Amino acid sequence: MLKKYGEVPLLLKLTKGMNEEQITQHLKTQVQEDSTKNILQMLETLLPQALSAELCKLAGIDPRSSYKKIEGKNKAKLIQILAWTPLTISGHDGFKLAMITRGGISLKEINPKTMQSKLISGLYFCGEIMNLDGPCGGYNLQWSFSSGALAGKLL
Ligand SMILES: Cc1cc2nc3c(=O)[nH]c(=O)nc-3n(C[C@H](O)[C@H](O)[C@H](O)COP(=O)(O)OP(=O)(O)OC[C@H]3O[C@@H](n4cnc5c(N)ncnc54)[C@H](O)[C@@H]3O)c2cc1C
Repeated sequence: MLKKYGEVPLLLKLTKGMNEEQITQHLKTQVQEDSTKNILQMLETLLPQALSAELCKLAGIDPRSSYKKIEGKNKAKLIQILAWTPLTISGHDGFKLAMITRGGISLKEINPKTMQSKLISGLYFCGEIMNLDGPCGGYNLQWSFSSGALAGKLL
């Protein structure tokens, strides 16, 4: 898509999967609990401070404002931006800096109990050579270690 369009728009849910209604309710609860908090302090319960401040600016809100003093249209804009943060992908750092890749071997061609190829007897696979990836956080390394251990055991 980058090649075709140069830029790719993205709407990202950053607020723990909450929708507009849930975010509104969350903010109202915050006000009830402590009405002296400004909007930035309230948003810190959902997002990192620096990001919250930027999202406030996008909605035309001073991050030090109290929730009650924010105009309705800006409040609505903020809630929309919180539920669906708009980003634009304008490029990437290339294959050399990519963290994970799908190697191209279809999982359908592998016996998951042994990691052996269903097409070529005696050929075993492990790690990211297979078409499988997980979120960042150790899942890919774990997959590589576990599939490697399994394939190695059965050789
Ligand atoms: C910058 C970065 C950060 C990452 N952070 C995380 C993380 O925090 N958590 C996580 O879970 N995953 C992370 N990953 C992904 C994870 O490192 C990989 O998914 C995992 O290492 C894949 O293991 P692998 O054994 O399949 O492949 P690799 O670790 O890539 O091993 C393949 C090996 O084969 C060798 N090789 C290649 N071609 C040949 C050849 N022709 N002959 C002989 N040897 C060859 C290579 O030199 C390499 O040593 C990260 C990856 C990168 C790049």
